[in-house]
Amino acid sequence: MPIIPFIEGDGIGPDIWKVTRAVIDAAIKKSYEKRKIVWMQIHAGLSALKKYGNDEILPKDTLNAIREFKIAIKGPLTTPVGGFEYVCLECAAEQNGINGKRPAKCAKCGSKYITPSFRSLNVSLRKILDLYACIRPVRWFKGVPCPVKNPEKLDVIIFRENTEDVYAGIEFRESSKEAKKIIDFLKKEMNKSVRSDSGIGIKPISISGTKRLVRKAIDYAIEQNKPSVTLVHKGNIMKFTEGAFRDWGYELAKSEYREKIITEQELWQKFDGKMPKNKILIKDRIADQMFQQILLRPDEYSVIATPNLNGDYLSDACAAQVGGLGLAPGANIGDEIALFEATHGTAPKYTGMDKVNPSSLILSGVMMLRFLGWNEAADLIEKSIETTISNKTVTYDLERQMENATRLRTSEFGNKIIENM
Ligand code: NAP
Repeated sequence: MPIIPFIEGDGIGPDIWKVTRAVIDAAIKKSYEKRKIVWMQIHAGLSALKKYGNDEILPKDTLNAIREFKIAIKGPLTTPVGGFEYVCLECAAEQNGINGKRPAKCAKCGSKYITPSFRSLNVSLRKILDLYACIRPVRWFKGVPCPVKNPEKLDVIIFRENTEDVYAGIEFRESSKEAKKIIDFLKKEMNKSVRSDSGIGIKPISISGTKRLVRKAIDYAIEQNKPSVTLVHKGNIMKFTEGAFRDWGYELAKSEYREKIITEQELWQKFDGKMPKNKILIKDRIADQMFQQILLRPDEYSVIATPNLNGDYLSDACAAQVGGLGLAPGANIGDEIALFEATHGTAPKYTGMDKVNPSSLILSGVMMLRFLGWNEAADLIEKSIETTISNKTVTYDLERQMENATRLRTSEFGNKIIENM
């Protein structure tokens, strides 16, 4: 019996977690005689602040539990946008201190759970635990309303680098002494001129960071029998970061997987464009091009490996194409630890309303079950979500786009999924 730690999350987190847990437990019970998950609550964000106080939004106990049990699942956590000194963890409102002190109450919702601004709990978790691959499968579920004619043609899994690029988090505010120092250095030592009123951000992309991500993507393609891995980059402009990502990706594919892959160039030079059997095609696309490719020729793409920022945009765009973020699952995976999570945020205006779609977190649970090798329970949940949506018994987000659908609460939708198993 695996012990799996969970973080409920802020905002809508508790609503969608309750349903997710019930659905996963029901699927396991229906699929196996003896298997069971032992859930263990751990805390981050608002729940940590309530339990531990003292600005402990990411307690050591939480990190230690994830390190010990290796697999964990979480709901969304509040992330301040920036520029303010404090953030309310109940409604995500940002505000400045009063006379240099922490406000006693949130100016928007009156909550007392206000904490000094922080960068991002999600980013911290990924960096501290070295969860370097953010994995997001995107496919259409029958019945889900969406903006394209053939949504079933999109079936991709995005491997987005999680620790470098903009997630390195190296940024200096305009007019800070650090920003000024870098601007001076660039001028004096590199003969590069940057406007003196600039904020500065640094975008590192390394050989080791790139290769371990691309390796994970190719391994996945081999295990799951996928036809191609596409490296998405902006190498035409950023040659030594994004362009290098492409070059190092090809280098890794050729040196470690030579017998199993061919590159697109080899496909045309040696095989006249006809794909040989039992090979995985390694290709690359420039990021802006990729956004139209995924809309116009979605079935030509399967596994995608990309640096952080491209992956962020691309996974949301793909999710929108098949009906939105409410149904997009995700996982952050390193060499030892896997943390599964909903891809949307805390949607604070819906907190405690039992209203939103829990599918993103439930489907992250499905990814977790597959990671454990519990495929029967995973299949059961996926089929049942599809049946529930096809029957037009859905939450508000889908109901408002469907004709003659029945609007269900989060908990009612979860009960229907269990009923339809
Ligand atoms: P958001 O929480 O994702 O919500 C934006 C909108 O998306 C919602 O107002 C709602 O649309 C829709 N939505 C989100 N989740 C939904 C669900 N389960 N079912 C149905 N609709 C859903 O984005 P945000 O308002 O920009 O961010 C709020 C907070 O979450 C911020 O602090 C942000 O930093 C944080 N965040 C956390 C994570 C994470 O923990 N992984 C990820 C992203 C953002 P309608 O208004 O149209 O109904």
